[in-house]
Amino acid sequence: MTTSQFLDVDNIEVLYGHAILALRGVSLRVEQGSIVALLGANGAGKTTTLKAISNLLASERGHLSSGAISWRGEVTSRLDPADLVAKGLVQVLEGRRVFPQLTVEENLLSGGFVRRPSRRALAEDLDRIYSWFPRLKQRRRARCGLTSGGEQQMVAIGRALMTRPTLMLLDEPSMGLAPMIVEEIFHIIRDLNRNEGVSFLLAEQNTHHVLQFADHGYVLENGRVAASGTAAELAERDDVAEFYLGAAATGTAAAAEPVQTSVT
Ligand code: ATP
Repeated sequence: MTTSQFLDVDNIEVLYGHAILALRGVSLRVEQGSIVALLGANGAGKTTTLKAISNLLASERGHLSSGAISWRGEVTSRLDPADLVAKGLVQVLEGRRVFPQLTVEENLLSGGFVRRPSRRALAEDLDRIYSWFPRLKQRRRARCGLTSGGEQQMVAIGRALMTRPTLMLLDEPSMGLAPMIVEEIFHIIRDLNRNEGVSFLLAEQNTHHVLQFADHGYVLENGRVAASGTAAELAERDDVAEFYLGAAATGTAAAAEPVQTSVT
């Protein structure tokens, strides 16, 4: 595989607790300026792939047992997650992890502090986020725990945008949200991509929505890449929705068995 000098995941294997092989030879690439979908049913390995990229596996007792990931030419395993954020790669974790006791605005500001900006720069960044998410401006003083699921997802994305990323990894942004809200969020993602140049790697079970917005896609099954291609190619393949994603593609959870291996 030739390198893109943006994000390159090259033949990675991930082990949890030295016993569970969650990824087996996964390779993928995100070109600068693109939206890439990472598809797969429950347990296929989407979250593990994103956490491997942003170096968050250690907290799960997981590690990269082979292969390599490079971000803008640098090997990510040598950088801690905060360094990666400072270098433009940020992850929005699954499940909209906002601070429920803080207001919407305080949550957004918490994303800005990592760069230690001036008060003025912080205020400008906040205005920028509100221009993308006008709903959040209206709700700025509301306690985040009291806002809707869609608003919390917007806060999670907005907080990540406060770090001024060039690549955002988003883990199942549509999870648990009504189709209209999912559509609204994907439209904002596409606008951010087109107008601000932010690239995205979107992990999703919801193929239907995400393939309308992505440029390229990879389908994971049991920790391997089972299919890849342009979003248009994947959208036309019946097997992607029906076989690889199982019931997940129609909105029902389908759990895959973990792959066991013995390591000495
Ligand atoms: P989901 O949609 O459920 O989040 P996913 O595609 O993101 O699914 P992963 O969460 O990456 O899948 O899981 C991949 C495999 O690794 C699964 O078999 C899962 O059981 C296993 N796994 C994930 N996290 C851990 C962990 N912390 N310890 C052990 N095994 C894990």
